[in-house]
Amino acid sequence: METFRAVVLEEAGPTLRELPVSALPEGDVLVSIAYSSLNYKDGLALTGRNRVVRRFPMVPGVDFAGTVEQSRDPRYRPDDRVLLTGWGVGERHWGGFAQKARVSGDWLVPLPSGLSLQEAMAIGSAGFTAMLCVLALEDHGLGRDREVLVTGAAGGVGSVAVAILARLGYPVTAATGRPEEAAFLEALGAQAILDRRELSAPMDKPLASERFGGAVDVVGGDTLAGLLRQMAYGTSVAATGLAGGRELHTTVLPFILRGVSLLGVDSVRTPMPRRKRAWERLATDLPRGMIQAVQQVVGLEAAMALGPEILAGRVKGRVVVDVNA
Ligand code: NDP
Repeated sequence: METFRAVVLEEAGPTLRELPVSALPEGDVLVSIAYSSLNYKDGLALTGRNRVVRRFPMVPGVDFAGTVEQSRDPRYRPDDRVLLTGWGVGERHWGGFAQKARVSGDWLVPLPSGLSLQEAMAIGSAGFTAMLCVLALEDHGLGRDREVLVTGAAGGVGSVAVAILARLGYPVTAATGRPEEAAFLEALGAQAILDRRELSAPMDKPLASERFGGAVDVVGGDTLAGLLRQMAYGTSVAATGLAGGRELHTTVLPFILRGVSLLGVDSVRTPMPRRKRAWERLATDLPRGMIQAVQQVVGLEAAMALGPEILAGRVKGRVVVDVNA
């Protein structure tokens, strides 16, 4: 009987197990996984927070990259290299913290030329989301004349967003609660470091001076409310996360007096043409050295233990999970 190793989530928590391949869920493509990665949502799943997983047993891991082993989908053949992010994988359908996955061919993206399987997961769901934020800002006329703010900059989405925006020539200001990571953020291309408390501090006035020419926000809550007050006329904010809270207490003034746009960015159900465009841009716009700089590599067992760490904001950059280590 052919078996594979996987992290299996039960209501009591995660364990590492050997499972028969026949236990995999229905799907038309069987993938031999090389790498997955640790994302904020995996932290929620591994710790049971926010009930992102409601069906047990579940294999967590919202993304993976690997090689097709068997396929009933005419678009994919054995040995094709593929990646997957989102679609509820690792939440409702068994995910990437495993040596194998069986999924719908509709969810797969062919590995873009120029990226290795490991590089694809050093980018992973978080980096893909960062690129979606950049695309959203570009579509709304992002300019290079003012600071572009990235919040949660030392984390996964934030660090990749800093690297992409800097590479594209935007003056990036990185907001972080970890001043000790200033050198890391400057190496990724940040021109200025901002203490994140400055954004979330209570303020009497609904508007402050116009400062930022664009923003990628992964934090939400008071941080998003604070940065909205400081957006320059006609600029946009790509909002994609809730690491600091899911509530948003603000006024309509930035929108109706300064024409600021709040752009929601979701990576889970992104339509396929935009997915492919984002991955092509990641393959060209993110310097290889930057991909190396943001990543650390761990095995399945270590990944399991990092759930509480990523939720506490203690993980730097991106964690690649080598499922065969
Ligand atoms: P990380 O944990 O890697 O990064 C989050 C960063 O946010 C931390 O590193 C920290 O940055 C900052 N942060 C954490 N807690 C707080 C807090 N209480 N107040 C202010 N800042 C805080 O997570 P990811 O980058 O993987 O994900 C970031 C967010 O984006 C999450 O909310 C996640 O759910 C969301 N996301 C959404 C997606 C979508 O499709 N909508 C897809 C991917 C992610 P620092 O130390 O620099 O201050």
